[in-house]
Amino acid sequence: MDTLYDVLIVGAGASGLLCGLECARAGKKTLILEKDPLPARKILVSGNGRCNLTNRFVSPDYYRADPALIESTLQHFSFEDCKHYFEDLGVLLTEEAQGRVFPAAGKATAVADALKAALKESGAQLLTGQEVIKIKHTKTDFILTTKQGPAFHTHKVVLACGSCAYPQVTGTNAGYELAKSLGHTIIPPLPVLSGLCLKETALTRLSGIKCQVRTTAKTNPVATAEGELIFTNYGINGPAALNVSQIVSRNLQNGPVSIEINFFPQLDNPQQFFRTRLEKFGSRKPKDFFAGLLHESITNLLIDFTGLRKQVPVREQNMQRALHTLTAWPVTVTAMRPWKEAMAAAGGVKTREINYNTFESLLCPGLYITGELLDVDGKSGGLNLHFAWASGFTAAQAIKEK
Ligand SMILES: Cc1cc2nc3c(=O)[nH]c(=O)nc-3n(C[C@H](O)[C@H](O)[C@H](O)COP(=O)(O)OP(=O)(O)OC[C@H]3O[C@@H](n4cnc5c(N)ncnc54)[C@H](O)[C@@H]3O)c2cc1C
Repeated sequence: MDTLYDVLIVGAGASGLLCGLECARAGKKTLILEKDPLPARKILVSGNGRCNLTNRFVSPDYYRADPALIESTLQHFSFEDCKHYFEDLGVLLTEEAQGRVFPAAGKATAVADALKAALKESGAQLLTGQEVIKIKHTKTDFILTTKQGPAFHTHKVVLACGSCAYPQVTGTNAGYELAKSLGHTIIPPLPVLSGLCLKETALTRLSGIKCQVRTTAKTNPVATAEGELIFTNYGINGPAALNVSQIVSRNLQNGPVSIEINFFPQLDNPQQFFRTRLEKFGSRKPKDFFAGLLHESITNLLIDFTGLRKQVPVREQNMQRALHTLTAWPVTVTAMRPWKEAMAAAGGVKTREINYNTFESLLCPGLYITGELLDVDGKSGGLNLHFAWASGFTAAQAIKEK
């Protein structure tokens, strides 16, 4: 334990790597400790292996967090800052629908490799296979002990351990435990950005079908999301499910959650649309009436679910329930999918216990906490990585100035 580091970062994920790079570039003697044999593993699996690293529309509206924290963080590291940062690292970027930004190479390795190369050039040290199990705060410094034996001495510590989501790829409770040992409060973590299990087993008939919908979760507050919905053998997945999952997961603590699925989000006036269709195709039987509008399996389920008579022309039946169901199909969420399918965690270190301008702990001076370890979770589309980079960057700026 003879070397005294200026800054020691626990975790070589998105936040830790960027923070370490910035500290080392500023001439700080920097060490990053990573428990895994390899760094950047979650970056590599992100965005289905393509890494959706930021989003043009990043704003406090897309996070479940204290808006003041996100506002302040975006002032330090905005969408444009993030784009330029990675372009400066040599990553060619491309923007897709809904402002989502990916490396143009089509692979997350482009982002991870660029970060690793810059880190090497910066002079930062990275030690893998070193799991920090204890942090002792002395009067002036910190002493970190790893499971593998060595102890490290440093002026400042950055906890960038990520969350417990996706345990098969580095997700761990270790960061919560370390933060707690230094006096921080942990908001119990919940899985988010994962599929939703439904009570209605009949919907498994739709397994594999994808459609564009609007979902409305009858939660407090009400949450809506628009985009692709994927029916599965347990319920629903895809952006239209993931982007209400943050609120659904929290509300599930009090029991099952109702969601309505609108299969025609593009219609301004669905009632008028269906009235016209009834006038035009009233002599058709239900299956032919819905032909051209819906996937056949959805039509069949709708007919069974709403009790339409298959052989009777629609104008001779009460269509009201069926047509209403198409824009507000009720389903009941009973559970989130397990942690190994969650792309993020709600909960984590209570953010009121850190300085929003520096990410320094208000309880333990010299300790910084960044990334998904904090009680911040964003919607899908590049928001979580943006926060990880931005918080790592902001902490590094503060460390440089000291
Ligand atoms: C499948 C999947 C897809 C995703 N896709 C996207 C996407 O496209 N866009 C997006 O914005 N977000 C995405 N995310 C979320 C995003 O990956 C995370 O929000 C982000 O990686 C968090 O960064 P972080 O640095 O806080 O933590 P991580 O990237 O998780 O890094 C934490 C690191 O700390 C290490 N560590 C933990 N404890 C210790 C310890 N005690 N000692 C030493 N090392 C330790 C871990 O091994 C890990 O390497 C996805 C997540 C998953 C699981």
